[in-house]
Amino acid sequence: MTRFLDVPSMTRLVRDVGVPRFLSELAQAITDDYLRWSEFDKSARLACHSPVGVIELMPVADAQRFAFKYVNGHPRNTGRGLFTVMAFGVLAEVETGYPLLLSELTLTTALRTAATSALVARKLANPGARRMALIGNGAQSEFQALAFHTLLGIDEIRAFDVDPDATDKLMGNLAAWPALRVIRAASTAEAVRGAHIVTTVTADKALATILRPEMIEPGMHINAVGGDCPGKTELHVDVLRAARVIVEYEAQTRIEGDIQQLAADFPVTELWRVLSGLAVGREHADQVTVFDSVGFALEDYSALRYVYELALERGIGEDVALVPPGTSPKDLFGQIASPKASASRDTLATVLGFCRDKRGLVSSVDEV
Ligand code: NAD
Repeated sequence: MTRFLDVPSMTRLVRDVGVPRFLSELAQAITDDYLRWSEFDKSARLACHSPVGVIELMPVADAQRFAFKYVNGHPRNTGRGLFTVMAFGVLAEVETGYPLLLSELTLTTALRTAATSALVARKLANPGARRMALIGNGAQSEFQALAFHTLLGIDEIRAFDVDPDATDKLMGNLAAWPALRVIRAASTAEAVRGAHIVTTVTADKALATILRPEMIEPGMHINAVGGDCPGKTELHVDVLRAARVIVEYEAQTRIEGDIQQLAADFPVTELWRVLSGLAVGREHADQVTVFDSVGFALEDYSALRYVYELALERGIGEDVALVPPGTSPKDLFGQIASPKASASRDTLATVLGFCRDKRGLVSSVDEV
């Protein structure tokens, strides 16, 4: 049987565990998996582009488990009452190929993206960072704010969105965390001024320049989350040129990240090297660091294995027959042909009732 976690089940799981603990444990799971980098069979995700968005498949495997995520990115969806990003995914056993978990990943993507952003910032931001600018206050934004609050101790958010209603929503949702002060800014430049960390999490299928060189101050860490697709960026190219840039999986980020604007030999450092101590993160206090986040399949693998264990432990979700059950694996046809394989007494009675009505052969199931 396959464990199935739909949105209500995932909501229960996150509420049971609590958002701060969920983010911390997920960040640990992601870190642990990045530290096993060489054990994974990795590839850039497969993307199907259209003029309004993208639909992607993200596979990854180690010797025990295989995972994939189906995810979209449609910036105009919110105008139709739909999410810009929605996702679902599977965790499977390599030994048999059988699926262990089929799960919603829309909420989970927001949690894993925020957990990844925060664990990277813990390595790259200057110690003592407390103030973060948050540009783009849509679906991902509260998750980002809470991950930085929980994992780094960020206690002030300067929020800006071109849609003031999005900022209202962010401030309303974060009112439940009084230790996190949220201040509305009138522009990106105002939000960024004096910030220790800048998170950009906007959605626009365009080569946007949300952050321009004149906004950047020495020592800032930039967590650039929204530029994650060819033709969709957030940083002016000179912001990248002047920074130390960390990426998840170089082969994928060269295509999708903000560095798509730069030559293929522009120097970047993969995250696993920083986490494992093979490369330094920040080289000096005045350096500007950029996490050019696009979202890598490994983070979804970590999230799927984490929620799978939690779901089993806490008895959340249900087991579904995604694969035909039974003890006769060569008799797949028997699943649909043989009444004994699946028919209950009720089903049999219905069939017999039909025969009786049509032909007068039997009068009740008990006559058989
Ligand atoms: P969303 O549509 O819910 O929110 C995006 C917000 O950005 C909107 O409120 C919009 O008004 C605002 N915005 C657009 N242009 C802006 C601008 N120039 N200045 C300020 N605000 C602006 O989308 P979301 O689900 O929050 O996702 C945000 C982005 O993050 C998307 O581009 C998505 O593809 C990306 N994303 C990346 C990862 C990753 O792993 N890197 C994961 C999930 C989502």
